[in-house]
Amino acid sequence: MVTRRPNIVIAISIVLASAILAIAVWVLAQMRDDALRRAQDSVFNVSLLVERDVSRNLEIYDLSLRAVIEGLKQAGVLDLPPAIRQMVLFDGSASAKDLGSMFVLDTAGNVVFDSQAMPPRRLNLADRDYFQVQRDSPNVGLYVSHPFAPKVNTKDVSIALSRRISRPDGSFGGVVVGTMRLTYFRHLFAGMNLGAGGSMALMLSDGTMLMRRPYDPKIIGLNLTGTANYSRFTEQPSGDFFGTAAIDGVERWYAFRHIDMYPLILDVALSTRDIYVEWRHRAWIIGILIAALDVAIIALAILFSQQLRQRRAAEEELRVLARTDGLTGLNNRRTFEEQAEEEWRRAQRNGWPLSMLLIDVDSFKGFNDLYGHSAGDDALIAVARCIGQSVRRPGDTAARYGGEEFAVLLPDTDETGAGVIAEKIRSAVQALELRHVASSHHVLTISIGIACTGSQVFATSRALVNAADEALYEAKDAGRNRALCYPVAARAVRQSVVTSPAQ
Ligand code: GH3
Ligand code: MG
Ligand code: MG
Repeated sequence: MVTRRPNIVIAISIVLASAILAIAVWVLAQMRDDALRRAQDSVFNVSLLVERDVSRNLEIYDLSLRAVIEGLKQAGVLDLPPAIRQMVLFDGSASAKDLGSMFVLDTAGNVVFDSQAMPPRRLNLADRDYFQVQRDSPNVGLYVSHPFAPKVNTKDVSIALSRRISRPDGSFGGVVVGTMRLTYFRHLFAGMNLGAGGSMALMLSDGTMLMRRPYDPKIIGLNLTGTANYSRFTEQPSGDFFGTAAIDGVERWYAFRHIDMYPLILDVALSTRDIYVEWRHRAWIIGILIAALDVAIIALAILFSQQLRQRRAAEEELRVLARTDGLTGLNNRRTFEEQAEEEWRRAQRNGWPLSMLLIDVDSFKGFNDLYGHSAGDDALIAVARCIGQSVRRPGDTAARYGGEEFAVLLPDTDETGAGVIAEKIRSAVQALELRHVASSHHVLTISIGIACTGSQVFATSRALVNAADEALYEAKDAGRNRALCYPVAARAVRQSVVTSPAQ
């Protein structure tokens, strides 16, 4: 079936190539989903880890602040010798790395106790936001300040954690405050593996940026209220989404969470580019390979179908050659006999008449001798053309039967019809006016023997041929250039002439 219809090969190859392409697209889509899922897991884990670390440290620091307040409430602590009092009020945690000084401020904002100096440094911190907040609102609890540059020791930008000291009657008694360098967060962020385009940020709940990776000192203290990402951070306690940072315009996958109990928001993000970079690389390779494979499959199929088409054409040509006479282009004798057998059967089956003409060129030997073999061949071609032009019905078969003999098969044609066609052929050949001085008609002529099943009964197709041959013989005998129909009564040959030229 495939060899008969070359286009099927191409159709199959296109289906195959499409299937391979579809599978590749599906696999690539899965790989893309996997890449995103890995990124989601990764940012989730990092955000969880950082949140725990930050909240743990803040908790410890807060405990130290509470311890100072408790210490101040204890009777007698203020009367202790300064060195001992310092040890009682400020435990070891206040001097941990990245934690700055811890101060106790009086109601005017003056430092009265200083974890790092004794006697305390002469400072007034009444202008700090944490002092004012604690002074003005009794129930703030732990307050995380906006970032500021400390007035002593260090230039490192810090935040302060503060708690209010309330007198027994509830009135403002001062503030306990501990500073924390933002470099703590910077180092914490730097330790995480987030890829080249990754980002992390810690901000106050009001949108003030405390620390961001990639680090840029200009961003610290910036207020992000109104940015798309910040709005999403405030919608839920935690979540994730694709977003574009207002700061650098990079699209990333964000995981954010509000840090437990503290007014802080943490976000961790991987850039979309980083998430898909490996996938994109593989997709290119797989895509190119699949495209090459598909092109190869279709190209091979086209090549194969072309070969098939050529083979079919060659076979068809051979088939025609095998059926055709090389000189005249008419059917050859083998084809004619097959056709005669078939038409014979059909005529028998249906009771239709079947006529046969056997045509022989008159005195052709002489023609050859006179004008040469090549001229003889040309004459045969001309005769064949006359026959072909006279026999035009689809079922009719004209053939070169051998040498200078031709045969015509006329299905569904009775004696009269066959006679008409025979005369048509005969007169056409005569009308060619091929000079033949050795002939009594002076031009090349033919004789035709006709046999028809309508009027006679023949046992086989062979018998029909023989009958036509017999009629042909009679036509020759009767003077050539005529058509005679079988049976020709031996004695009345000339009377049964179907056609004869005007003498
Ligand atoms: P008639 O049939 O009228 O009795 O005489 P004739 O000369 O045709 O008789 P015959 O059948 O004996 O001669 C046939 C000649 O046709 C013999 C041969 O030289 C010639 N012939 C047969 N086939 C070809 C052919 O393919 N080309 C040419 N040029 N001549 C052919
Ligand atoms: Mg002959
Ligand atoms: Mg002859």
